[in-house]
Amino acid sequence: MTNLRKKEKREHHFCTRNLWHQRCVLARSQATKPSARQRSRTQHCHCLQEYPLWLTDLPHVPKSGQCQRNIPALIFTKIDRLMTETHTHRVIPLQDLRPASLPLPLATLDAKARIQPNGLLADTRGRALRDLRISVTDRCNFRCNYCMPKEIFDKDYAYLPHTALLSFEEITRLAHQFIAHGVQKIRLTGGEPLLRKNLEQLIAQLAALRTLDGTPLDITLTTNGSLLARKAAALKAAGLQRVTVSLDGLDDAVFRAMNDVDFPVADVLAGIEAARAAGLGPIKINMVVKRGTNEQEILPMARHFRGSGMVLRFIEYMDVGATNGWRMNEVMPSSDVVRLIQSELPLVPLEATQPGETAQRWGYADAQGRHDPGLGEIGVISSVTQAFCHSCNRARLSTEGQLYLCLFAAKGYDLRSLLRGGASDADLANAIGHIWQGRADNYSESRSQLGPDTGAPVKRVEMSYIGG
Ligand code: SAM
Ligand code: SF4
Ligand code: SF4
Repeated sequence: MTNLRKKEKREHHFCTRNLWHQRCVLARSQATKPSARQRSRTQHCHCLQEYPLWLTDLPHVPKSGQCQRNIPALIFTKIDRLMTETHTHRVIPLQDLRPASLPLPLATLDAKARIQPNGLLADTRGRALRDLRISVTDRCNFRCNYCMPKEIFDKDYAYLPHTALLSFEEITRLAHQFIAHGVQKIRLTGGEPLLRKNLEQLIAQLAALRTLDGTPLDITLTTNGSLLARKAAALKAAGLQRVTVSLDGLDDAVFRAMNDVDFPVADVLAGIEAARAAGLGPIKINMVVKRGTNEQEILPMARHFRGSGMVLRFIEYMDVGATNGWRMNEVMPSSDVVRLIQSELPLVPLEATQPGETAQRWGYADAQGRHDPGLGEIGVISSVTQAFCHSCNRARLSTEGQLYLCLFAAKGYDLRSLLRGGASDADLANAIGHIWQGRADNYSESRSQLGPDTGAPVKRVEMSYIGG
């Protein structure tokens, strides 16, 4: 086994980030000799190692016979399970491929190394903690293929059981400690946050909290809009201030294909209208631009939302998670988006309104070339082509209470075990403080230094789990 591990490691290096190959090596080494018929049908992965054909015959596995980059760990969970069921003589041990937690910093438990929360916390790059994104569910009723591709997130997918989810009381307690360290803004997300039962109760609890200077928190929510028409008024009444609605196009066929559950665009537009009527503004609209899929929707979207009082933001398609098969050639750089809109609707650059703002702002110009506030503005979020890690002040709390310091992290810190293990508020604040102080994440910056098509390590966490 030791030899196998060494060999596996060596070959894994050779075939960079290639779990398919890695598993192929394992499978070959543990398989009985293939029959002549199997040998004749043996295919090759791109590193020219053979793997047994029966792997490709399993459901959920890409049929291409090519050595795939970014084969998600999840697929291997399924392969492992199926192999256990159907190839008992070649069993590869089942592994739990859900992201494991990082150990809490030792100082967390040291009473002498207490960090007193005072809003001045900074990470190793001097970045403050201001923005907390809380994922309230890992489930969604859409299957956007850049986020939760149907082939992976199918009916067999193991979502978190209800007991694993942080309760509203646990979320509120943690939020309180984050605020003590300087958090001013909370975004509820998921999965689809509006699928979480009684979400209004959580909003009401969070709305009662105050920032360090005694002002109400900035509470917002990102949603696919499918349930917004039904829920907008109740969300507002509970204390939600505004919403961001994701919408990848106006053309019904394009939109239905992108959400991959045949959901009509008209229902999302009705949700946006209900949010506006309820006073959940200013509303932001997020459009992920995927080259070859929906770039033809950029101009219609810009025309539709210009002058509406809503801010349309174009997001570069990112290599988050490990299941979307991200390719650099499907990323449309924000500079191209701005150029395209400029060709019809003149734009002028605007200053950022607050530190750590992810979007670059562009205002629609009047005939004199000055920003016309009546026409509004757009934003572009260039996480791939122009990283903004240097000002990233966001922490993410997963549905089950793992604290992630970066959207591209592979592992989080298990705050739920502290919560459920009897930690006091001071212990929680101390843990959050030490974890943030040790933060050095700057994935997007290092990716752009490494080259355009490098992508994140394969085991990075899914966006639907960590929250967008
Ligand atoms: N379900 C909600 C929604 O779609 O608004 C909230 C969760 S979703 C993960 C949050 C945001 O992440 C959405 O605006 C979505 O478009 C964006 N997103 C998801 N996958 C992405 C990817 N691969 N690249 C860029 N943005 C992505
Ligand atoms: Fe669901 Fe949002 Fe992901 Fe689309 S982007 S699959 S709506 S969580
Ligand atoms: Fe922040 Fe990580 Fe994104 Fe950089 S890559 S901006 S550190 S979340």
